[in-house]
Amino acid sequence: MWFYFWLCINLFIFYIMTKYFKEIDDGNMNQEFLAKLDIARGHAGIPFVISSAYRTPEHNEEVGGAKDSAHLKGLAVDIKVYSSNQRYEIIRGLLFAGFHRIGIGKTFIHVDMDSSKAPRVIWDYYK
Ligand SMILES: [Zn+2]
Repeated sequence: MWFYFWLCINLFIFYIMTKYFKEIDDGNMNQEFLAKLDIARGHAGIPFVISSAYRTPEHNEEVGGAKDSAHLKGLAVDIKVYSSNQRYEIIRGLLFAGFHRIGIGKTFIHVDMDSSKAPRVIWDYYK
């Protein structure tokens, strides 16, 4: 009886892990992108808290991402931002690492390396 209870709990945890953490599995991320992101993080000198990375088409639709989102290609991440100083340090790091496609949201910074899109741009998500 307790064994089944224990088994159920573990299967539930496994289900949650696979459902919600699959999206940030960096196996789907472009390795060159991740290497560059690491350089940016080192230069910024603060932790990068990633709120979104690779997205499956289904997940992208759920979160209202663009149809041709760089997240679908494993070429983008969203980094959480908690203060204006963090925003500054993150952008400084990204520019240092050579990123040139940056989107500024209220609570996050999107960065991607999608060469099919316009280079050298910074946009916002303000409504
Ligand atoms: Zn994004």
